Amino acid sequence: MNRQQEFVLRTIEERDVRFVRLWFTDVVGTLKSVALAPAEVEGAFEEGLGFDGSSIEGLARVFESDMLAQPDPSTFQILPWRGDSEQTSRMFCDILTPDGQPSAADPRNVLKRQLAKAADMGFTCYTHPEIEFYLLKSDELGPDGEPVPVDRAGYFDHVPGGVAQDFRRTAVSMLEAVGISVEFSHHEAGPGQNEIDLRYADALQTADNIMTFRTVVKEVALTTNCYATFMPKPFSDHPGSGMHTHLSLFEGDTNAFFEAGAEYQLSRTARQFIAGILRHAPEFTAVTNQFVNSYKRLWGGGEAPSYVSWGHNNRSALVRVPLYKPGKGQSARIEYRGIDSAANPYLSYAVLLGAGLKGIEEGYELPAGAEDDIESLSAAERRAMGLDPLPASLHDAVRAMEESELVAEILGEQVFENFLRNKRAEWNEYRQHVTQFELKKNLGIL
Ligand code: GLU
Ligand code: MG
Ligand code: MG
Repeated sequence: MNRQQEFVLRTIEERDVRFVRLWFTDVVGTLKSVALAPAEVEGAFEEGLGFDGSSIEGLARVFESDMLAQPDPSTFQILPWRGDSEQTSRMFCDILTPDGQPSAADPRNVLKRQLAKAADMGFTCYTHPEIEFYLLKSDELGPDGEPVPVDRAGYFDHVPGGVAQDFRRTAVSMLEAVGISVEFSHHEAGPGQNEIDLRYADALQTADNIMTFRTVVKEVALTTNCYATFMPKPFSDHPGSGMHTHLSLFEGDTNAFFEAGAEYQLSRTARQFIAGILRHAPEFTAVTNQFVNSYKRLWGGGEAPSYVSWGHNNRSALVRVPLYKPGKGQSARIEYRGIDSAANPYLSYAVLLGAGLKGIEEGYELPAGAEDDIESLSAAERRAMGLDPLPASLHDAVRAMEESELVAEILGEQVFENFLRNKRAEWNEYRQHVTQFELKKNLGIL
C-alpha cells in the first residue's frame, strides 16, 4: 500500500464515504462506473476489481473477457452533487489484463504511452480545452423535429435571469468543488449554446477532467431543469460544439514552443509540432471527430475548420497560434480547432500529441500560414495555397485512418482495430437510413 492509497483509505473513513465509484471509459469515450463498498477499496488497489471486459465496447473479446480495473489514487475525489447525507466519491481506473499488465485496449493507457514517449524526448504536455455544448429544454424534439434550446441568446450575451446563467454559476461551483479550475464561462453563438474553458493541466489530468466535466454538466443541467448535449452539431442552422484544445510542450520549467524574436515567437519545436499535426490531421480526424454527426459540424460553417491549415490568430484555420502579451512567453501554445465536444479525450489527445511529436522527430517543415478567411477563398485559391480538405464524412475519415501507420502505432493494434470496427458499423447503419432531408427533398416530386 503506498502513501496515496493510504490517504484515500483514511479519507474514506474520516469523511464516512459510503460509495466509491470506479470510473473508466470505453473506446468511444463513454464513461463507465461501478460503485464499491468502502471495505472493498483496499483489495481493488492491490489486485484490481474484476469485470467482464467483453461487455465494454472495444475492450475485449468474449474468450478473453476477464479484466481488472485498478483505481488511480491520485484521482480520488468526493462528488458533491449527491448532497452531504451519503458521501459518494470516485477514482479513475487503469485497466489491467488478468496477469496484472496494463491493457493495450484501455484508452487511458494509450494516452499514458504517448505521454511517456514525450517524457523520453524531454517534454511535458499541457492542454487546456474550451468545451462547447448546448442546453436544451429536454432531450425530446420540438414540433418542427428540432431540439428546443433553453434561450435565443448569442455570443457573450448576458441574459438576465436566464436558465443558462443559473446553470453556469452552479456548474462552475460544482466543477471547482471536484478540483477542476475553470478559467472562463460564457454564452456561445448558438441559441442555448454555452462554453466553459478549463485551466491548463497535464494532458492526462485534462482528459480525466473532461470526463468528469461531462458528468457534472449533465447532472447540473438536470437540477436546473434542462438537458445538456455535447453532440457535435445538433442544429442544421446553428454552429456546432467544438472542443478547441490548446497544447504546449514544456522542457522542465521552460515553454519549448517559445522563442523570443522568432516569427510569431514560435520556436523550431513548435513549428515542427504544428507541421506534424497538419500532415497527419486527415488520418486522425476519425478519432477527434468520431461520429457521423461530427462531419456536419466540420462542413457546416459556424467557425469550424474544414481545411488543413494554420494561421496566426486566424479563427478559420485548423491550428491557430493565439496572440499573447509581450513577456508572457510561458503561455506560448497552439490551439487545435478541429476536435469536437463528443470526442474520446484520451485517444484524441494521444493522436494530437503523437502527430506533433512525429513532426519533431522527423523535423517536418511547416508550410506557409494562412492569413485570410479560408472559407471565403475560392476552391482554386485554396488549391493553389495547398490547403487540403479535412475528411468530408465519417466514411472518408475511416478510409484515411485505415491507411495510417502513425495512428495505428499511437493507438496500438487493438484500439486501432476496435475503434475502426465501431466506426464502420456506425457508417453502415447511417448509410442505410433514409433521412428527413431525403424525404423532404424527393418525396413530393419524384
Ligand atoms: N463553435 C465553433 C466550433 O464548432 C467555435 C466557435 C469559437 O471560435 O469559439 O468550432
Ligand atoms: Mg467557443
Ligand atoms: Mg477557441
